[in-house]
Amino acid sequence: MSNDPIAASVQHLLPERDPAAGAILAAEAKRQETTLELIASENHVSAPVMHAMGTCLTNKYAEGSPGSRYYCGCVHHDDAERLAQDRAKQLFGCEYANVQPHSGANANASIFLALLKPGDTFASLVLADGGHLTHGLKVNMSGKWFNPVHYPLHYDKSHPQFEQIDYDEAERVCMEHKPKLIMCGYSAYPRVIDFERFRAIADKCGALLMADIAHIAGLVAAGEHPSPFPHAHVATTTTHKTLRGPRGGLILTNDEDINKKVNRALFPGFQGGPLMHVILSKAIAFGEALKPEFKAYQQQVKKNAQALATALTERGYRITSGGTDNHLMLVDLQPRDAELTGADAEVWLESAGIITNKNGIPQDPRPPRVTSGLRLGTPALTTRGLKEPEMDVVAGLFDRVLASKGDPTECEKVRGEVADLCGNFAMPS
Ligand SMILES: *Cc1c(COP(=O)(O)O)cnc(C)c1O
Repeated sequence: MSNDPIAASVQHLLPERDPAAGAILAAEAKRQETTLELIASENHVSAPVMHAMGTCLTNKYAEGSPGSRYYCGCVHHDDAERLAQDRAKQLFGCEYANVQPHSGANANASIFLALLKPGDTFASLVLADGGHLTHGLKVNMSGKWFNPVHYPLHYDKSHPQFEQIDYDEAERVCMEHKPKLIMCGYSAYPRVIDFERFRAIADKCGALLMADIAHIAGLVAAGEHPSPFPHAHVATTTTHKTLRGPRGGLILTNDEDINKKVNRALFPGFQGGPLMHVILSKAIAFGEALKPEFKAYQQQVKKNAQALATALTERGYRITSGGTDNHLMLVDLQPRDAELTGADAEVWLESAGIITNKNGIPQDPRPPRVTSGLRLGTPALTTRGLKEPEMDVVAGLFDRVLASKGDPTECEKVRGEVADLCGNFAMPS
């Protein structure tokens, strides 16, 4: 019996009961085991976190909240949800936690439903600068039914905070447009977020402050990034990125009135029955995050990100904003090779077993489906136990693939070396 949770789940899905599904699962387990996962929003969960999602808790409808359900038979589901709530509150040092959002996007949608009216103005960072699609993209509900205004980064190369948030300009934008809500927290922003400064802006213009810490939740939980509390009126997050839990969302606040509104907005306003098997898994992940090992893990995530950024800089790539303070970085490919696009780079790298995603850099001259950049993160590799020396090895493999312009022979060679490297770093147990 393997300690590897992915191999274990493959064993549990009896191949003779559904060979087609079993084969897909086995192939995916092998892919994860033999490739380097550098997508900043992904991670590898422990065996308990993974297996909680494959339990009998999935069999129950538990609409409502602990002690106040719409169906009978929820006594153990109440315990599971209370455990998740209590651990979330302890982890983030706040009064109220709603553990029911199926995803980060659902958590964000329920904030809009709870705190805004259709047509209301809110302020955020635009997707192209590192924001999320739920922060006002035109094709998303947040941009269709509400009115986003965007605050900028410093776009002037000579500015010491080049490609970082321009807080003075954010204040000016907010004073001009008087948003009801200011959103901070991003999907592709490598620097520390100044929640205190955002709260001062919110107070000045009469807005509520919402921190979407989807990417940095694990760092925040471990004290490796400043907490949004006490500054934010409400915070949302995913549970599956740096926090290393199951796929899902979480809403946190210290405000009793906001808590009530948000709870009603999420259910019955937006969702039906909660995913109770996932909520048990969230409780387990929060329990893991409360342990000292989790702080050490997050510290290593940051050290690895810095080591990877340095190793790539040495090889001629540019890291936007000049580096990283958290788990991710945006790599500008142009200084290494003016012709190289993110779209080509991600495909070539995948063929060599290095999994990344193309991502626009601020003021990217290329369109979003092409881009001049890649977003890289270290949470998954750090979970497998890779440290600074391996980051230099990874950067070397990365550069060989891109320098070869995706030459199939070179990519195949690197693919073998990647598999060998992965063989030394087991999945978490
Ligand atoms: C990932 C992310 C989300 C959305 O999470 P899903 O679970 O994919 O819906 C929301 N906000 C930010 C900033 C994110 O990075």
